[in-house]
Formats: sequence, C-alpha cells, structure tokens
Amino acid sequence: MNVLLDEISVPVSLHARVPRQVSIALTNRCDLACAHCYAPKSRDELRFDIVARWLRELDEHGTLGVGFGGGEPTLHPEFVKICQYAAHETRLSVSFTTHGHHINNELAERLRGSVHFIRVSMDGVGATYESIRRRSFTGLLEQLRIVRSISRFGANVVVTDHTLPELDEVARVSADAGACELLLLPQIPVRSVVGASVNTLQELRRWVDGYKGPLKLCINESSADGFPICDPLVSEGGLRAYAHIDAMGVLKPSSYSDTGVQLSDGNVLQALDQLAYYFAENDT
Ligand code: SF4
Repeated sequence: MNVLLDEISVPVSLHARVPRQVSIALTNRCDLACAHCYAPKSRDELRFDIVARWLRELDEHGTLGVGFGGGEPTLHPEFVKICQYAAHETRLSVSFTTHGHHINNELAERLRGSVHFIRVSMDGVGATYESIRRRSFTGLLEQLRIVRSISRFGANVVVTDHTLPELDEVARVSADAGACELLLLPQIPVRSVVGASVNTLQELRRWVDGYKGPLKLCINESSADGFPICDPLVSEGGLRAYAHIDAMGVLKPSSYSDTGVQLSDGNVLQALDQLAYYFAENDT
C-alpha cells in the first residue's frame, strides 16, 4: 500500500532520484509469435545476481514497484527466485506480465506470497484471440483460474481495429474470471504492424466514456492524451515516474524507446542521470 500525503511539500533535495515504477524484461525468449510484439527475437536474458543488485539499489533509493516482463518472463530459468528475492529481500511491490499459458499449479504454488499483481494478455476473445496468439482461448480461461489463486490480476489488451469491437466481451470475460483491472494498450507501430489509427483512438475514448463495468481501466502513458485519467503526481512524470530495463541490460524511458543507456552490471542511479542528461540536452 502506498499512501499519498499531498499537503506536505518535500524539498527537492529529498526527492527520490529513481522512478516510482520500473519494468524489467527478464528475457527476450517467448514461445508465441504475436505480430504486434516489440520484444527483439533473441535469447538474451538477465542474470539473477545482476537483477538482484539493481532491485536492491532501486529499493534503497525509493522505487515503489517492479514489473517483470519479456519476452515471456515465466520462461526465465530463475523467474521464481527473482520474484521471491524482490518480494522478501526488498520493499518493492512485485508484478509481472505474461501470456499465461505456462502457469500451472506447481508454478503457482512457488509464486504465492512473492507476487502482488499479475497482468495477463487478452487481445480479444475466442477466434480473435486465437488468431493473434495461436493458443486456445478456452485454455487461457482455464489458466486464469490458476492465476487468480496466486494474486490479484488484470487483463491487458492491445487495442487495434480488430480487437476494439471485442472490448465489451474482453471486459466481461475478464471480470467474470476474477480480474480487477483492464489495461488498454493502443497498438504502437512495430515493424510491419501499423499503430492504432486516429479513428480507433476516438472509438476507444468513446468506449472508455461509456464503460460502466467493475474493472479499473488503465492506459499506457504514451497513449493517455484525451483520456479521463487520474494522475495524482502530475509533476513527477518522465524518468521520475517510470523506466524500463530491457533483457540486454539497457535502461530506457519506455520499452518502445530506441534511446537507452547500457547498464550491464553497472549502477542504475548513474545510468538514470546519464539518460536524464541526454534528454535535457536534446530538449534544448
Ligand atoms: S506473448 Fe508477448 S512476448 Fe510473446 S510474442 Fe506475444 S507479445 Fe511478444
């Protein structure tokens, strides 16, 4: 639980120098081949000891939460160990994003108590989902029964012309399966896949305005313009809000960005300063 005390003015010298939330792509490996995927198709993955060092540093300097992704993070050979370390050796909240198809009872048992939130990809329902993910939609719904036994969870949907008409169904099916959140991710242009059109974004805004269901709706920051968002920390954007570390150990402002600083086993704080300096220089 994070408590916001907004009447207290904290001197700039005491502001945290690290982002509130950091996502880490533990591996680029994935056994699916979604066309909209932005993860490089390589076998890069991060070592446990290096990730643990970054987590300790982020925790020490005030980061609130870490989200593991990929690729498919459950394919990382030390995925459980990393979640357990983050949950029990730091004060960070721990979440991960997954396609969900590898979560069995044994993995669930090992993760229970070491994960606070799970994000499961659900691009459409039935045949639409199956045409994108090439996995059974009924199988996904069965997996969600196991997922909900680990922690609270939400569904992620990549919004395109193709998936937009199914948002009502995605929201209904997710809520029925026990989800508490729906994360809307308008398609970002990737290789040969075009980004969500202006028309799709307009329709999505209309859908959000009309949604009366039980799920909390969220949207990624880069697509949030024009949506009714609630941001309690408007003056803490950019690298003070969020950063991403990819599976090659490059620190970036977001997973889609081409700009980054190589961390390898180096210091995160130093790399954040370098990245902030780069953006400041290129802004002027
Ligand atoms: S499941 Fe995720 S990581 Fe794997 S190919 Fe699809 S979008 Fe990429």
